[in-house]
Amino acid sequence: MTSPIELPGFAHVYSGKVRDLYAPLDAAGAPRDDQVLLVASDRMSAYDFVLRTPIPDKGKVLTQLSLWWFEQLAPLVPNQVITTDVPAAVAGRAVLVERLDMVPVECVARAYLTGNGLAEYEADGTVSGLKLPAGLVDGSRIDPPVFTPSTKAPMGEHDEPMPYADVEAAVGADRAAQLRDLTVRILVRANEIAAPKGVLIADTKVEYGVRPDGELVLADEVLTPDSSRFWPAADWQPGRRQASYDKQFVRDWLTSPASGWDRASGEEPPALPDDVVERTRAKYVEAYETITGSTFEA
Ligand code: ATP
Ligand code: MG
Repeated sequence: MTSPIELPGFAHVYSGKVRDLYAPLDAAGAPRDDQVLLVASDRMSAYDFVLRTPIPDKGKVLTQLSLWWFEQLAPLVPNQVITTDVPAAVAGRAVLVERLDMVPVECVARAYLTGNGLAEYEADGTVSGLKLPAGLVDGSRIDPPVFTPSTKAPMGEHDEPMPYADVEAAVGADRAAQLRDLTVRILVRANEIAAPKGVLIADTKVEYGVRPDGELVLADEVLTPDSSRFWPAADWQPGRRQASYDKQFVRDWLTSPASGWDRASGEEPPALPDDVVERTRAKYVEAYETITGSTFEA
């Protein structure tokens, strides 16, 4: 696990599983409360653990891909970005953003059924309490996508599914409807953009913040392999697990006999072998290059 570095002109304020947040210092040397430097590290989280083995260039891929998507989605929603002119020590993996009052909901939308959504559907035919048609299988398309919010759990705890009524109770009915409609629109638009590149975006998680004037703004990271499931469209075949460009690769290794790790033990996962690190890095870079059409500059 990498720890936050010292950045002259900035004060470290918070570290999440993946990102380190810094406040720029004002002329008097005091931390500003209206801006934050979001620095994406190479830390990898899986199954609610921060793995002890970093993935080289992952922070840069996440940052560059998010920036690309913020621009693509600008016609739909304002975003947090102020500038990518950042200290050289974090160049490429940091962005200076508006410091927002974060909405306490992980806004998830699903365009294809898999993972937790599939588990709920198999149990009772619903996803996030919404009845879906009968006969869907792993990988089936959900059209239009459904909003399946979850709680923002404190570090080390599971994000839990959040019934829509709880979202309304937390942020009010109007804001809840806005979160739902916007999140679904973002996933629909993202799939329109990714489809010609041969990528399906099965699901995604976005976070929003609110400006002092009440405006809702897209924040954090967006449409990255950490926050989304990306599937090669050519291999898509409902009825089985899909191949993916995201962190599924690491999850599969961790839960395979090769890792020797028992997920139920509550113990920290083992270090990743070099070939798993290299293949995971390659998946992240491939996601970036396939979606943006640009070569990744390490
Ligand atoms: P947690 O913060 O719960 O540990 P996480 O592990 O996903 O979640 P990271 O993604 O590593 O966290 O860190 C990003 C943190 O910064 C999140 O808490 C996120 O809500 C917050 N954040 C993202 N964008 C902004 C913003 N524009 N203003 C303020 N906070 C933000
Ligand atoms: Mg996060």
